[in-house]
Amino acid sequence: MRIFSGIQPTGTKHLGNYIGAIRQYVAGQDVGDPAIFCIVDLHAVTVAYDPATLRGSVHDLTAMLLAAGLDPERCVLFRQGDVQEHTELSWLLSAVIPLGPLNRMHQFREKSAAQRDLVASGLLFYPVLQAADVLAYRAGEVPVGEDQREHLELMRDAARRFNGRFGEDILVVPEHRIPAVGARIMDLQDPSRKMSTTGGSVEGTVYVLDEPDAIAKKFRRAVTDSGTEIVRAPDKPGVTNLIDIQAVARGITPDAVVEDMRSARGYGDLKAATADAVIEMLAPVRERYPELRADEAKLEAVLSAGAEKARAMARVTLADVRAAMGVGPA
Ligand code: ATP
Ligand code: MG
Repeated sequence: MRIFSGIQPTGTKHLGNYIGAIRQYVAGQDVGDPAIFCIVDLHAVTVAYDPATLRGSVHDLTAMLLAAGLDPERCVLFRQGDVQEHTELSWLLSAVIPLGPLNRMHQFREKSAAQRDLVASGLLFYPVLQAADVLAYRAGEVPVGEDQREHLELMRDAARRFNGRFGEDILVVPEHRIPAVGARIMDLQDPSRKMSTTGGSVEGTVYVLDEPDAIAKKFRRAVTDSGTEIVRAPDKPGVTNLIDIQAVARGITPDAVVEDMRSARGYGDLKAATADAVIEMLAPVRERYPELRADEAKLEAVLSAGAEKARAMARVTLADVRAAMGVGPA
């Protein structure tokens, strides 16, 4: 079973990305045949960005993924812009993806809310390129966080429509893999919204490379709920978020965390225990990062070797797609 997932090089990766995505990538690299992970620089150009820093951001994320445990010998790790099949397939898929649903995607509506007519059209087209990313590899499984469920449905629909119109079994309809716990880590300052690269508060966002002191401080100031009970409940989004984070960080169930916290004297203890667990989980990544980030030649070598492997797979799919659509010579 092929596994594929993409991750944006924008900004600084946070605890939500780590728990919802990066952690799953590391676990998936020995399950996928192969597991393919793509740093999506082409998606990053859909919002305001600085061309001078984009390559550096790709290197930042490459080093972080390696520090988190991705091994280029056991997975395919590459930069989206290096494999041109993605952009070609996105255009070809636009033939079967209707405009209506693109207009209604949450991500598009949220990110374009301020200036609907002025945002880049690439933001509207984002899910089409994302569909191409996955479908180019005929991936069977896509590890993502909860916020990507809608985009996954759109790409599944695109694969079905494509096969229905141009020939059965040309594209694979992928399944999402959304973790049971930690699929939607919430902002520590506003537990009604997801922790996010764009739009969240610095105080409410724990970054993967934050120093232990900074992590402890962010948890200490986390917004909790009224009452004193440490339970998961819809009217306790702040406490529920802390329980889930701690569960993932310690590798135990949320119920076990609740049980463990029975003797806690209040939310302060919950915050402290959660901070400790997160600091311990992220420490190895932060410690390995600087050395990996310093060797840019090595990072480029990893990405270019990955791109070569990716291209070999995507090329086969594109040849079938072009043939089925009547594009180019027979
Ligand atoms: P943005 O907010 O700008 O969309 P992002 O934080 O969502 O950025 P992405 O690169 O778009 O970052 O997402 C990478 C992966 O992390 C995706 O699989 C996404 O589902 C997952 N993810 C993002 N935020 C969270 C979160 N708060 N909890 C769990 N998973 C998340
Ligand atoms: Mg996102």
